[in-house]
Amino acid sequence: MLIHSGLRRNRWLVVVPWNYLWIWMKSLNMDSTNNPCFSDNCRKCARLAAFLDQVRCSHPDYYARPVPPFGVNDPRLLIVGLAPGMHGANRTGRPFTGDFAGILLYRTLHKYGFSSAPESVSATDGLKLIGCRITNAVKCLPPQNKPEPAEIRQCNAYLACEIAGLDKKAVILALGTVAHQAVLRALELKLKDFPFSHGAVHALPGGASLYDSYHCSRYNTQTKRLTAEMFESVFAEIRNNLPGS
Ligand code: SF4
Repeated sequence: MLIHSGLRRNRWLVVVPWNYLWIWMKSLNMDSTNNPCFSDNCRKCARLAAFLDQVRCSHPDYYARPVPPFGVNDPRLLIVGLAPGMHGANRTGRPFTGDFAGILLYRTLHKYGFSSAPESVSATDGLKLIGCRITNAVKCLPPQNKPEPAEIRQCNAYLACEIAGLDKKAVILALGTVAHQAVLRALELKLKDFPFSHGAVHALPGGASLYDSYHCSRYNTQTKRLTAEMFESVFAEIRNNLPGS
């Protein structure tokens, strides 16, 4: 909508309705105080907020804030990782981008048609996810990559919000035990009823599915706990079982 500013002659203001602005902000993963699923100003975990304050001082060029989910807003596949890595997502501002853990993940996503490119370099490299979204159980960088149980619980409200918005038949892929348990917590399900195991597929109440994989971390891939073949077999299974695939 155009209105005359009334301030100077021949000056006009563009007024954008709030609902359009909100959709645009969501598409860019921008923060809004009205977004119940994410806030890049969140400081609910005092230890993590203080750590990020330090990191912003020591690495002023790093993103160093809660890392937003990345991907489409109506995913058929939601991938849940653990938390941003110091020199990866915490540096670039995009999950699994800029460090070792993302190499196998994006290569595999591309191979199975979930990503427009096999390598995620930066938050501005133009890569698009296809029918897919990536988030973390904990949105802030934890010291030594180890969030405390209370921090995982605190951040779970954001994950629960994100999962609540999924399609009934969506697939959730948990990378590692912490992510697996965070998904169950978000859905208020009992851990003992859905034990984590690499390659396991759990039918969730309501029709969605939870797939498990070992996390694609440097440690797991270098020790061969997780090989490329093992990881790809999980994605092949997901691709085969996704509705409309
Ligand atoms: S980990 Fe989650 S809940 Fe804790 S401060 Fe970061 S965004 Fe907030």
